[in-house]
Amino acid sequence: MTLFCKQCNERRLPIVFAKDKPSLWLCEKCENFADGEDVIIREITKDEKDNINKKLEDFKNITELTGEKIHRRKGVN
Ligand SMILES: [Zn+2]
Repeated sequence: MTLFCKQCNERRLPIVFAKDKPSLWLCEKCENFADGEDVIIREITKDEKDNINKKLEDFKNITELTGEKIHRRKGVN
């Protein structure tokens, strides 16, 4: 199953490169992509890694910003 990496059993993340193409599944630990058939296509390039990290950072920032308001009231840090 593509959702989990067959090499390390970590969860893979679906990465969409183009709307009209099926997403590739990234294992952050092995740093490679598999297709929907769980066939490893290639390794992640540095540019892609930076790009994905940036997206993840943005996502985390948004989550933290929205989460902060909720948590602050409860006094949870
Ligand atoms: Zn892996």
